[in-house]
Amino acid sequence: MKVIEHINNAKDCLVSFEVLPPLKGKTMAAIYDHLDPLMEFKPSFINVTYHRSETMFKKMANGTFEKVEVRKRPGTVGICAAIKNHYQVDTVPHLICGGFSKRETEDALIDLNFLGINNVLVLRGDAPKNETFFEPEADGHKYALELLKQVANLNQGLYLEEDIKNGGKTDFCIGIAGYPEKHFEAPNLETDMAYLKAKVDAGAEYIMTQMFFNNQKYFDFVKLCRNNGIEIPIIPGLKPITNKKQLNILPKIFHVDIPNELSDAIMKCKTDEEVEKIGTEWLVQQSKELKQYGVPVLHYYTLGKPKVIWNVVKEVV
Ligand code: FAD
Repeated sequence: MKVIEHINNAKDCLVSFEVLPPLKGKTMAAIYDHLDPLMEFKPSFINVTYHRSETMFKKMANGTFEKVEVRKRPGTVGICAAIKNHYQVDTVPHLICGGFSKRETEDALIDLNFLGINNVLVLRGDAPKNETFFEPEADGHKYALELLKQVANLNQGLYLEEDIKNGGKTDFCIGIAGYPEKHFEAPNLETDMAYLKAKVDAGAEYIMTQMFFNNQKYFDFVKLCRNNGIEIPIIPGLKPITNKKQLNILPKIFHVDIPNELSDAIMKCKTDEEVEKIGTEWLVQQSKELKQYGVPVLHYYTLGKPKVIWNVVKEVV
């Protein structure tokens, strides 16, 4: 079932989870171990993130360096299919522009459609680790909007090869990313909002947000979206803080603020267990307030911490 159908059919707030493909060399068992305890909460769907390959420089025998592309995690198509079949749950693969040509994107979409997966979260992706700016592939997309249009075209039966007639229309439900605290490259929230609206006008059916630790940021974002004519559901993305280092890492990587009250409490902790307790309590309160506000889904980034997420969700559902 599509994410939007889950939302439209729901009588109460739904729960969903997000997993990272395990590092190369591991098997699906790593994902099942991670998800097994969380399945008792009957998630409506499970997202699987996508991680582009990284450019590395390998030292050769003659002392020179060779540029190599290293993929650390397997792709999402197979993982989504395995999760869907193992648990009979809907899956949402993340699809990014970075590292993909339009043709490779079309192939991935054809595979997903073939496997009966009819949800995608379309994203631009970030620059590779050792590069400053995002650069699209020579025959790739520069913005998530362009990728979204390719998916929307395929939903109309429009393939890249114009001579493919009656190729069959896909039926993807398209989600997009939204940033309550602004995308870090956008000059201001209003500009970011205009590009968000363009993605909605092109066919996005729901927004999934970047993590945030202050619910007011989400409430303000929803209000701004509504004032700008964006009426689709806005799913909050939620993550617990579980160690002190994240006080610096999360703002650096995800460009989000951590409220003073939370950072103060974490700074006073002596162990990671204490931090995890504070982080769990904070996320329980955040979730309860968001549920009361009427969010359609509570979406949890599980990121290697299924036990913490279990402790949160059992207090909320
Ligand atoms: P876009 O919508 O393309 O926006 C990127 C920037 O360009 C913004 O500043 C926007 O304001 C601006 N912009 C948009 N359109 C235009 C235009 N036409 N002209 C000029 N400027 C424009 N990354 C991964 O690699 N893998 C994942 O699995 C993944 N999952 C994510 C899940 C969620 C819920 C979120 C919030 C993010 C995720 N990301 C993931 C990170 C995401 O790829 C980055 O945040 C990326 O920098 C932006 O992606 P986007 O889809 O928002 O891009």
